[in-house]
Amino acid sequence: MPFQDLSDRLAAVRETIERARQRGGRGQEVRIVAVTKTYGPDAPMAAWQAGLRDVGENRVQEAVTKMAAVRADLRWHLIGHLQRNKVKQLDGFRLVHSMDSPRLADALAAYGDARGRPVDVLMQVNVSGEGSKGGYGPSSVEAEGERLHRLPGLIVRGVMTMAPFDAPAATLRSVFAGARRCAEQLSAAGHPATELSMGMSGDYEIAVEEGATLVRLGTVLFGARPA
Ligand SMILES: *Cc1c(COP(=O)(O)O)cnc(C)c1O
Repeated sequence: MPFQDLSDRLAAVRETIERARQRGGRGQEVRIVAVTKTYGPDAPMAAWQAGLRDVGENRVQEAVTKMAAVRADLRWHLIGHLQRNKVKQLDGFRLVHSMDSPRLADALAAYGDARGRPVDVLMQVNVSGEGSKGGYGPSSVEAEGERLHRLPGLIVRGVMTMAPFDAPAATLRSVFAGARRCAEQLSAAGHPATELSMGMSGDYEIAVEEGATLVRLGTVLFGARPA
């Protein structure tokens, strides 16, 4: 059976999350999004059998193919960069974490209008300012938050961020705290922005301490990904 140690890994991860949650003292609920990108449909299936209900994929087409092959009641999250010409394929996704520009926001809202049901999204923020990362700069969140009120095809559920790879703990912490402040700005502006998607296999403890409600975990659950 593939991924046979998933249950043990998951139990250990859940304990680690719970300890980090206690240390952080923020009282949030934390959900694991099992990142199944590059694996076949056996990965989301194994996740479901292990008791997970949320899975994340970073490419629309790859995810849609897996959705068709997996007979399980999973919530699918899009966590990777989305091209505007792919928004019409989003119907099977519960939450888009990677709304990273005003132009994509407009395209997502138009799609939500067209299908008669708004698209649930997170604003991806680039807190570290790394040129290699997409997303809104933190200083643009307030104005964009105001503008998004005029797009009824979207529901802004919170913020997603990615921290620099292999950065010192203090840097990770300040990036995650910066993302949390962005979500607070959106909430203050009247959006139901309660979700904070942050933390991957290498940095999820600090993310949870800083208030993550969704952690996106691949390697720590499934092992090294196929190339
Ligand atoms: C691949 C990916 C993850 C999971 O990465 P791991 O380090 O394997 O946990 C999380 N978030 C995004 C956006 C990803 O692309």
